[in-house]
Amino acid sequence: MAFDLQKEFGISEEVMRLVSEAEKSASGCFARAEEIAWHNQAKVMKAFADNRIGEAHFVPTSGYGYNDMGRDAIDRVYAQAFGCEDALVRHNLISGTHAISTALFGVLRPGDTLVAATGKPYDTLEEVVGIRGEGCDGSLRDFGVQYRQVDLLDGKAIDFDGIRAAIDDTVKAVLLQRSKGYAWRDTFSVAQLNEVIDFVHDIRQDIVCIVDNCYGEFVETEEPRGDLLVGSLIKNPGGGLAQTGGYIAGKTRYVELAAYRLTSVGLGKECGASLGQNKPMLQGFFMAPHIVAQAVKSACLCSAVFDKLGFPVCPGVDDARGDIITSVKFGDADLVIAFCQGIQKGAPVDSFVEPQPWDMPGYADQVIMAAGAFVQGASIELSADAPIRPPYIAYMQGGLTYESAKLGIMTAAQKVLDTMKQK
Ligand SMILES: *Cc1c(COP(=O)(O)O)cnc(C)c1O
Repeated sequence: MAFDLQKEFGISEEVMRLVSEAEKSASGCFARAEEIAWHNQAKVMKAFADNRIGEAHFVPTSGYGYNDMGRDAIDRVYAQAFGCEDALVRHNLISGTHAISTALFGVLRPGDTLVAATGKPYDTLEEVVGIRGEGCDGSLRDFGVQYRQVDLLDGKAIDFDGIRAAIDDTVKAVLLQRSKGYAWRDTFSVAQLNEVIDFVHDIRQDIVCIVDNCYGEFVETEEPRGDLLVGSLIKNPGGGLAQTGGYIAGKTRYVELAAYRLTSVGLGKECGASLGQNKPMLQGFFMAPHIVAQAVKSACLCSAVFDKLGFPVCPGVDDARGDIITSVKFGDADLVIAFCQGIQKGAPVDSFVEPQPWDMPGYADQVIMAAGAFVQGASIELSADAPIRPPYIAYMQGGLTYESAKLGIMTAAQKVLDTMKQK
């Protein structure tokens, strides 16, 4: 007898119909994701081949990690696939925040100014920059680095005049954020980011353009032309297999400065034992174009389903995508919580727990997070987050397989509908 999805997962006839219609309306979005994955997969395969990746690269090192062939090869593979001169890919970059912080502290010196060109950076960077916190905590501000923020026009468009006005002789670096993070706006496309980068370099060539590339990797066929691209391996480029880590890729000198900050001046990239992480990192990067396409398809389905239920979604099902996130504006705390709890039910791990809002380190508001991942907190795996503040927007991302994410979206739609009916 066939598996009874409706009975086993408590999915109503209404939700079954809704999701099947949504899938039809998302077919163009699915096709685009597959086309992009095909292009990116070829690029990654070429980087593996050119760097002669072999079994020897999987051998773990310990201690100082001198002559770790695998570690050095991973750096070259990332650099080639991302169109960069060099890269620093490390399991001991413990998160995206740590990688971005390392890049910023690597490049900036006392008296320099950092300009945020795409509005307020991601929540966890506020304390790194020093726009939140005590001021005597080792933030950039504490080290005498000035900060200027150019807000987006109407919360979405890049303010070129504002960027020009913010740039004076003290500006050493400009930070751009590709993904929307916890904001209601479109993600910036690679073309838009390149336009800003060219604009900044036209003002002064030696300004270091640092792109927070989190969630954007492999969503388009090219990565931005930043002087440094920075991201997390438990998001897109880890392909669900990297156990932890981050990367900093870009111009050789800036990568070196970041490596000096991560390890020590002089040691830089040449030390650091890989402890057996090379193989999952390489295999994850090999898988990443395909896995990202699974996540993008899941995001398309989420947009289609909740649009049909009458909620504002961003991006819309037919809009171009620049990251793996779909946001749904619920306008109600109970519905946003129901959504996240429903997504949790579609997880392979911890599907039996019910997430609740809590005070997370690094975040200003309470946050509810749905995550049932093999790698703790990995948001290339199906997950959803929502800061508990109006207008109660949930951000869903990931899905290692489209099929499992589809199930999570079904249970989420069911839980939201049930909650609406109780109101
Ligand atoms: C996730 C994310 C970060 C921070 O990464 P963590 O790994 O959570 O520290 C920074 N910027 C953006 C846009 C992100 O999505």
